[in-house]
Amino acid sequence: MFEIDQFQDNCYLFKSFYWFLNSGFYLEEDGWAVIDPGFSPSELMQLREYMKDKDTSQKYLIYTHSDFDHITGGYYFPEAQKVAQASFEHCSKDAQVEHLREADEACEIERPDFVFPSIDVTFEDKLDLQFPKGSISLLAAPGHTRDSLFVLIKDKGVLFSGDTLSDNEFPLVMYNSDKYIETLKMAKSLVEKYDLKYVVPGHGSIAKGSSEILKRIDVDIDYLENLTGQAEDLFFQGLATIEIKDVLKGMHYKGDYVGEELMPAHERNIDLVIEEAGDKLC
Ligand SMILES: [Zn+2]
Repeated sequence: MFEIDQFQDNCYLFKSFYWFLNSGFYLEEDGWAVIDPGFSPSELMQLREYMKDKDTSQKYLIYTHSDFDHITGGYYFPEAQKVAQASFEHCSKDAQVEHLREADEACEIERPDFVFPSIDVTFEDKLDLQFPKGSISLLAAPGHTRDSLFVLIKDKGVLFSGDTLSDNEFPLVMYNSDKYIETLKMAKSLVEKYDLKYVVPGHGSIAKGSSEILKRIDVDIDYLENLTGQAEDLFFQGLATIEIKDVLKGMHYKGDYVGEELMPAHERNIDLVIEEAGDKLC
């Protein structure tokens, strides 16, 4: 059943069948922004239908990053200005198109109309989008990918966090672990500064209230600081890569060993932080 839930004034959420993907909506009297609309063509047709009568003067489609599951919506909102962090333009488009093709094949989805998004507005660190009654701020939030961003709606206490801070996905570092930790610390400062009440990740459920939000942030900071710290120590002690990997595979996340399901992502993180430790030594 098609359902869009309001969770805060002006803020709405649609949950896709695909990997708990969240599409976000900020709707005002004379402006709107949709965030990562997705995923399947039939879901996107319904989202387009839902937005059809909202003929406002400002329309934005924000991509929180360039991963394949977040970029399927552009074709359905041709009237919207497409906004992304500047590095989006340099992502590996072919790889994302291939990931999308594989995902569609696995889900038996026909997607004849996909074209890789072209972006109308980019920014480096920060961009404010002004609406008649409020504004939303886009903040560069690199770590998961280089082009990751946060969508902050200050006066509503809402943060759309892309693939950072999901309760459903492992903190997967595809760009840089130090940047990821910095981004998590920025999120923490936003909670305090703007009294955040809702953090809406790209996948999974909303973190509600400052204690749940801070807990989610701290768990990920602990994991990444532990991972990078141990990788550097072991690397500097001169252990071989395979030995470092063995030790790090036994690490804890959320108070327990990393399970079978999360292990592939954890192993990718291990490879990356070992490489980073090597770079730091050189
Ligand atoms: Zn994703």
